[in-house]
Amino acid sequence: MICYETRVKDQNQKTPLSDVNMSDQTIATDTKTLLQDLVRCRSVTPDEAGVLDVLEAFLTPLGFNCTRVKFEGNGSYPVDNLFATRGTKGRHLLFGGHTDVVPAGNANDWTHDPFEAIEAEGQIWGRGAVDMKSGVAAFCAATAVFVGNQPDKNGIISLAITNDEEADAINGTQKLLEWAVKQGHKFDFSIVGEPSSAKILGDNIKVGRRGSISGIVCVRGKQGHSAYPEQANNPVPVLANLTQILSDTKLDDGTEHFQPSNLEVTSIDIGNKATNIIPAMGTLSFNIRFNETWDGPSISAWIEARIGEVEKKGFEIGWQRVTAIADCFVSPISEDVKIVSEAVKSVTGLVPELATFGGTSDARFIAKYCPVVECGLVGQTMHQVDERVEVFQLYDLEKIYLKIMDKFFSNA
Ligand SMILES: [Zn+2]
Repeated sequence: MICYETRVKDQNQKTPLSDVNMSDQTIATDTKTLLQDLVRCRSVTPDEAGVLDVLEAFLTPLGFNCTRVKFEGNGSYPVDNLFATRGTKGRHLLFGGHTDVVPAGNANDWTHDPFEAIEAEGQIWGRGAVDMKSGVAAFCAATAVFVGNQPDKNGIISLAITNDEEADAINGTQKLLEWAVKQGHKFDFSIVGEPSSAKILGDNIKVGRRGSISGIVCVRGKQGHSAYPEQANNPVPVLANLTQILSDTKLDDGTEHFQPSNLEVTSIDIGNKATNIIPAMGTLSFNIRFNETWDGPSISAWIEARIGEVEKKGFEIGWQRVTAIADCFVSPISEDVKIVSEAVKSVTGLVPELATFGGTSDARFIAKYCPVVECGLVGQTMHQVDERVEVFQLYDLEKIYLKIMDKFFSNA
């Protein structure tokens, strides 16, 4: 680890891959400039704010067919998405990413304005600099170099870019992929450029993600005077008992790629301010992060079974989900995953861990169509004040993506 840090910091931090010639024009492929252009668009979910225009302007001269697809409905706001594709024959590599960002909060708390993309201390500062405009910029720039070096190489490169990953994710990647498949696209492998590294670029790539389900249990008893408990049914001990059962019952022991599934009770709400009233009802909220041992129906059945273990006489107990279930996925450790690992190693010197930690991401939607790996920066400053990326890491990420493409399409 230290070796890598020392090595890259000793280098000139500005080491872009060279620009390329496409027919009669030279196309600037500088990742850093592209990142700065993207950060300067205030694309807080779901505001497009020109950010997809920047990408279209970059990709179109490279021979990409760009289609803007807007989705709306299903109880969520309208979202702009971009599907860009180049090539018609050979293996199909899909890059998945998002250009929306979380709000910057109070701009005065930042060292540099969150939407000016200032370069200072060898870093680009701004909202989205890590999550994940860097991933998008590095992939686009790597593609430009790849296409410039081998313009007639067989192979299909597509990008599915949404502006709704940080919020509902209802009118984004999921629908964009459904749309693309309906257009006849078939993908062989996908890279998502989310921050996947833990401490240093390349120490981890993600080959899967745990699933997630959040729910709320309602226990209804009978209100009464605390001096006359025989005339009431107190739901509080039932909630306490259920909390213990849910928290103490083991879901599983973990699997080859995943830690054990886990349930956390996140809140118990009764809202009773009086000390002489037995409340009529209370609720318990929980979240479960689960591995591939479980799916939506089986994890729901597990919850039902735990609720079935508590004393119900005189009580009404029910539960419901509060968000959609995010399914767990894990990609097979194929030759393509090895290509990603080797690309990371050749640039950083690190053999990445094949990890599955962290929250959910849009990769879960892509996993329905092809194997998917998340390969990106260190997520340390994402969603924080002073989000920033070291310029050398940005260029290294671009080099990793370029090496992946070189190998992925080598026999195409
Ligand atoms: Zn992200």
